[in-house]
Amino acid sequence: MRRKAQPKTEPVVPAEILEQAKRSISEDTVQKKVAKCSVCAAETTNVSGEPLCWVCRRLKISAWHEIEQQMPAQE
Ligand SMILES: [Zn+2]
Repeated sequence: MRRKAQPKTEPVVPAEILEQAKRSISEDTVQKKVAKCSVCAAETTNVSGEPLCWVCRRLKISAWHEIEQQMPAQE
């Protein structure tokens, strides 16, 4: 009666290394020129035009639409 040696199921990338990689990536993005949203200071990669994150951009756009709708139609 032989016991079958079970192969160790190791993850392809150890969690520690994965964590280190994640950290280095986040450090990379910090070192890179990252635009910060002028409203909520969230990081945004969209540096063209206004420094707004997508959330504030959407809020602003929806606010514009609201203002347009609330404005009384001039005759
Ligand atoms: Zn924002």
